[in-house]
Amino acid sequence: MKIAFFGADGKVGRALVPMLERAGHEVRGIELGDEPDVRGLDAAVDFTTPAAAPGNVRAALEQGVSCVVGTTGWDAHQAGELARENGLRLFVAPNFSLGAVLMMRFAAEAAQYFPRAEIVELHGEAKKDAPSGTAAATAKLIGNDPVIHSVRLPGLVAHQEVIFGGEGQLLTIRHDTTARESFADGVLLALAKLDSLPPGLTVGLDSLL
Ligand code: NAP
Repeated sequence: MKIAFFGADGKVGRALVPMLERAGHEVRGIELGDEPDVRGLDAAVDFTTPAAAPGNVRAALEQGVSCVVGTTGWDAHQAGELARENGLRLFVAPNFSLGAVLMMRFAAEAAQYFPRAEIVELHGEAKKDAPSGTAAATAKLIGNDPVIHSVRLPGLVAHQEVIFGGEGQLLTIRHDTTARESFADGVLLALAKLDSLPPGLTVGLDSLL
């Protein structure tokens, strides 16, 4: 596929663009200040900032290009409506790592038996939004409005623990992302399935598995 990558020079972009190219995609990197010209391309991928993503996605959709978005901390519903009106797809995932999606599934299952839980999400100090999109999505899945603790420190990449407390026992479900390359499988899967999704907004890698 011919793909635009908004945020190609960012930390995720630098890890993913070579992997998308190795998988056979032709990638046009678009950085802050570049004209968001994506006309004629097959899809646009966005890993930028919560402030930049809505404008990038709108520009792509207005040019007739469906989007795969990893940027967290923005509300995609309005853009999803625009996609639906134009017969296009907007796929947004708070986490493109397969292990993290499984961690959320297992946490949702455990929540049926352990109603008391708290979430600890840990990310590198440069991450701009808190709580993380993955933590917010996990909280929604397990219900009961769990407390989310956000840690931002150098040395971290992306980690999350869901701790369930019961009488005399604790259950901890933990996922660690040790390198940004872990997001490539999910992005490749989303690109492969993009055209088969219903027009409008689809959220979460879980819906593609
Ligand atoms: P980053 O290193 O700050 O990269 C963001 C890049 O986007 C920077 O190169 C930035 O350029 C660029 N940018 C800013 N505004 C832009 C615009 N209008 N058009 C095009 N590019 C623009 O951040 P990151 O760690 O790569 O993360 C990016 C986003 O992905 C964050 O929201 C993060 O939370 C999210 N994320 C999601 C997942 C997932 O699985 N869903 C995984 C990891 C990260 P400048 O440096 O010049 O501003």
